[in-house]
Amino acid sequence: MKGWAVSSGISSEAWFNEALYPDWGQRFKVVKELVHKRSPFQDIRIFESSSHGRVLVLDGIIQITERDEFIYQEMLAHVPLFMHPHPKRVLIIGAGDGGVLRRVLQHKTVEKAVMVEIDGDVIELSKQHLPMFGKDAWDDPRADVIVGDGIDYVKKADDGAFDVIIVDSTDPIGVGDVLFTDDFYKNCARILSDEGIIVNQCGVPFQQADELRETTARRAKFFPHVTAYLAAVPTYVGGFMTLGMAKKGTAPHKLELATLQKRAQESEIAESCQYWTPEVHIASFSLPPYIAQNLPRS
Ligand code: SAM
Repeated sequence: MKGWAVSSGISSEAWFNEALYPDWGQRFKVVKELVHKRSPFQDIRIFESSSHGRVLVLDGIIQITERDEFIYQEMLAHVPLFMHPHPKRVLIIGAGDGGVLRRVLQHKTVEKAVMVEIDGDVIELSKQHLPMFGKDAWDDPRADVIVGDGIDYVKKADDGAFDVIIVDSTDPIGVGDVLFTDDFYKNCARILSDEGIIVNQCGVPFQQADELRETTARRAKFFPHVTAYLAAVPTYVGGFMTLGMAKKGTAPHKLELATLQKRAQESEIAESCQYWTPEVHIASFSLPPYIAQNLPRS
């Protein structure tokens, strides 16, 4: 969906109209605009809505809302971390609102979580206006938060330095584009350990099928296993959101429900989840044909 430019903003009646698709979209009734700032990288807007609580918008596109963030964040963080046999070192790219960092640090097995976000303003404004996402994760001694470009970080990182990489980025336009390239995935494969897993947002296939198709085809060059799983996120309009997964070592579908249930019990995380469960985890890899057709034949 590269290069579509449609106007977004808050109308005189105080409605925010999202600018993702030129001919279709969602709108939010705005109670109060909290901040609107142009950073060196993008246009940042945070407002209080009457329907979804606080909302973060980058370059006119909805990134996250207080009301449905749990769906996306739980599935982006818990699926790879419960799939990996012993995830200790995690790299998070993007995710400046802090929600993924918090979910990753819920896992007691995690000894180190490095988060690389290109835009320091997103982090500072999220701490100020969206504290409910990161909560105390920012102060966790296991967290190492770096302001920088994700592609530079993966190029410099050591071979096998991480067990799981979570890419919570904007779409493949503007600053996020580099995170959907061969160079990025080649380096991610190099810095992941034997059973290493990378996941990233791959868009809503009903509207953005090329994002899933292109991303998966690229990763298939560097990883033995590529697949995707689903999450139904109301404010990522257009039906299922896909989260792309690439993995080294054992194939993802080999994971048994009983193994997941045991890991969930030991972790004491499931009680805090509103979306992720071992059963939802397994089911989320069952893709309807209109989505599965975008993946390389296995
Ligand atoms: N969940 C949202 C989505 O699916 O659209 C993404 C939310 S998160 C706030 C996206 C973050 O990725 C932004 O804060 C943005 O600054 C960051 N980002 C974009 N390109 C980046 C890059 N090359 N390196 C690191 N962070 C990047």
